Amino acid sequence: MKVKGMKKFEKIINEFTQTFGVTAYWNPAFEALPAQKIIGFTVVVDEDMNEVFLNDAEVRFPEVHASLFLWLLMHEIGHCMTDHLWTPDDETYFKRAKRHLDKTFGGDVIRKNNWYHKIGDEYMATKWAGEYMIAHPKKMAKFNKKLNEAMRVFCKKNGIAP
Ligand SMILES: [Zn+2]
Repeated sequence: MKVKGMKKFEKIINEFTQTFGVTAYWNPAFEALPAQKIIGFTVVVDEDMNEVFLNDAEVRFPEVHASLFLWLLMHEIGHCMTDHLWTPDDETYFKRAKRHLDKTFGGDVIRKNNWYHKIGDEYMATKWAGEYMIAHPKKMAKFNKKLNEAMRVFCKKNGIAP
């Protein structure tokens, strides 16, 4: 798919992520390279996986009212902001635990992801995101307004339902 207006959209996202020292790129999926303070984002999302993600986040932070996109963006920033908590051994453990889930649950995305979000780095990334959004309502409301407008323009340009 040829994406239109992506640079502009990316710029608006970066104006926000740069306040955390994080650079965001358009990417096939949401992901983080915490050590490099780089995140990837997209508007095309995996339904099953995100349902579980959003459910986990909303159960833990019912007072946060954020779109799936904003939650995912904050979660990836959260990986960058909590990276200092982990030793190389912790990181090896998280990788192993995730591989183990892949093997155990295979295509059962829902069951797999219920466990996935309990793994330390995932748990803490969402915790950071939720606590940050609660502690900074003004900054979040301002960005959310900009984000919604940018998303509307971007989706219209690309013929995607927002
Ligand atoms: Zn994550």
